[in-house]
Amino acid sequence: MIKNERIFESGINAAIILVILKVVYKIIIDNKNFKIDKIQFIIVYAMFFICAHYVFVFIHEFGHLLFMKKRNIEVAMFVIGPILFVKSTNRIKIKVRFKGELIWGGCVIPYVNSRIKNQESLEQYANDYVYMLMGGVYSSLVAYVICILFFCFIDGTNYLFSPICIYINWSILISLFKKTGNVMGDFKMAKFLTQNEDMIIAILYNSLLIEFPVNQFILEKCEEFVYSKKINKEYNYLKICNLINLLVYKIINLDEKEEKMEEYLIQFTKQNLESKNDIYYNLLMCRLIYHFLLYEYCYESNYLESMYDLLHNFILDSFSNNNTFFNYVKKYQVNLLKLIDSKNANANKQWNYFGFISLFQYINNYMYMIELLEANIINR
Ligand SMILES: [Zn+2]
Repeated sequence: MIKNERIFESGINAAIILVILKVVYKIIIDNKNFKIDKIQFIIVYAMFFICAHYVFVFIHEFGHLLFMKKRNIEVAMFVIGPILFVKSTNRIKIKVRFKGELIWGGCVIPYVNSRIKNQESLEQYANDYVYMLMGGVYSSLVAYVICILFFCFIDGTNYLFSPICIYINWSILISLFKKTGNVMGDFKMAKFLTQNEDMIIAILYNSLLIEFPVNQFILEKCEEFVYSKKINKEYNYLKICNLINLLVYKIINLDEKEEKMEEYLIQFTKQNLESKNDIYYNLLMCRLIYHFLLYEYCYESNYLESMYDLLHNFILDSFSNNNTFFNYVKKYQVNLLKLIDSKNANANKQWNYFGFISLFQYINNYMYMIELLEANIINR
């Protein structure tokens, strides 16, 4: 089902080129329809664009949801732009927010803890997950074809509005083949998963946070992925996300300091600490070092100072010409200094964890996890 990627992508592109040609032709041949109030037209057009955008994001995510239901995958969160549906302790809560992640997009986050318990269920889940990913691909494809048919067979001012619908679906479909920043498109992820079934845990890194605490098998798989050499550098961001989660779990459990993990992290950070053009990757790297420093603080390590300097230099290298991001990553440093600065022992009492994913604050287990993390760090 994923083999004919090229043909699929070319087909989607060919359709939009034909639509554009027809619109240009119509505008040249038949420009009498443009004798309308221009300001009014622009306002209506812009409002229509925004509404249509959310409608098609909804259709895409709904496709995922439908396919998830068919495979009995439980949904933790369904997000369409500013509206969130959160399933927590068997109740569905609806939340609205106007800033933060995904304000323009959407997502569906599944629960995994009760489904992945051993190797067999892991493979089954990977299979179900690919199926779920394709649900979004199919629903957007159907919407795209319907919009094109509508454009072809219904005349009038429709040829001004339906191309917008076609364009929105086209941009959704095309993004499914790409990896933008750290986000893999559905199609690309489905392909990655069919080639590496075991990597399902690596992809579901958000579940380790919202379903805290996940079962031992999932944790072991997550660790196995982090240390595996199988994955190429392109997927390093997955390692970073999983490493951050593992660090959070280690801080909460506060059992024994793991030399293996410490060594691995120092090596990994030094190898990958080159400021890249990709600002989100750099941001992720800062988050990793921040969490590593929290871990080191808890276990009274000798690397605290040298790692702090590394973070400091990395921030200067990567963000000094971008004010917004620079101010953001500086908060990691300020937050750490509150802990490290021994002159100010009282300040520790007011210390709060930084690096919150605002999307997850509505899920009970996530807040519980943050509480434990903060308590363990303050009362170290
Ligand atoms: Zn999708």
